[in-house]
Amino acid sequence: MIIDSHCHLNLLDLVPFEGSLEAALQDSRDRGVGAFICIGVDLETQPAVMAIAEAHQDVYATVGIHPNHVVEHIDFEQLRHYATQRHVVAIGETGLDYHYTPESAVLQQASLEQHIQLAKDLDLPLVIHTREARRDTLDLLSQAGPRAGVMHCFTEDWETAKRALDLGFYISFSGVLTFKNAQALREVAAQVPLDRLMVETDSPWLAPVPHRGRSNRPAYVIEVARVLAELRGVSLEEMTTITRANTRSLFKLP
Ligand SMILES: [Zn+2]
Repeated sequence: MIIDSHCHLNLLDLVPFEGSLEAALQDSRDRGVGAFICIGVDLETQPAVMAIAEAHQDVYATVGIHPNHVVEHIDFEQLRHYATQRHVVAIGETGLDYHYTPESAVLQQASLEQHIQLAKDLDLPLVIHTREARRDTLDLLSQAGPRAGVMHCFTEDWETAKRALDLGFYISFSGVLTFKNAQALREVAAQVPLDRLMVETDSPWLAPVPHRGRSNRPAYVIEVARVLAELRGVSLEEMTTITRANTRSLFKLP
């Protein structure tokens, strides 16, 4: 079985499943997905994330505020409250995104620092999003000292991957890895140590080849693993085993 290390189950397009999350989850299980890390992006939708994890033994939750969703006054006590609940395996997604929301850069940096502190306090790993902000993201993470975490939906260069690996982070690849124009990214993926690789869908976004143009879903994580296996010259089964072990190790899954 394979683990989708990053999906937004509360935001899935459920139309192909007759509107039912249960059907979407079952379809994924039938195709070999054994666990789902359901990612929090803001305080408004965090209860939905918690409820899905509460209701399913194979769904785990993370707690965080996405850099695109950062606002001026964040109730970090509320965030902390969610983060101490059962089924929570990480803090995030947090990070910096200067592509879509450059105007909130300062607020994003403050939010990332708060998330790092929370992760330290609760001894939880971080789920990091970075877009056009790699230097600031890595600088903030380094200042905080070595932390456990994952650079999710990785699309940066090798230098960035190397710095993140040196900090002890895992590197998670999404459907972007399967895109025709992603040759540079595949070259990066070919160099990441096997014991630091993870796979994800980031569903409902970024459906991989051959499902591009459709709404993404956790079952498609297998397509990411397939490309990664080819790149590394191992079988799909081996890549599944490797990424599953890494994901379980980082998130301390049973
Ligand atoms: Zn995400």
